[in-house]
Amino acid sequence: MPSFDNVKTQLLSLREEYMRRIDAIEVETHHKEEAVEKDFAEQATQSENDDVLAALDDEAQLMVMQIDAALGRIESGSYGLCKSCSESILEKRLQAVPFAEMCIACAEKASG
Ligand SMILES: [Zn+2]
Repeated sequence: MPSFDNVKTQLLSLREEYMRRIDAIEVETHHKEEAVEKDFAEQATQSENDDVLAALDDEAQLMVMQIDAALGRIESGSYGLCKSCSESILEKRLQAVPFAEMCIACAEKASG
């Protein structure tokens, strides 16, 4: 049974990074909501920015969810196994994507 202490440390610091990002986005979004619009051009730019921020926020939230799921798999002993075909995920892939829940073949199938 391999120890995943390094992975756990890596996941936790990655999680912290994304949490900081989410905080920063939320501060930014909140700040914008309070701002009074001056003209239409500014409003358009603003809503565009909000879309970008919302997309970044969604992405960061999703990452945190995936990281949490990976941490859960470490606890339950199923870390590193593909959730689709139950084969071991290549170490190289886990190094690149420590929260990967599928092997490359299944991930490619899933993404079409
Ligand atoms: Zn697989």
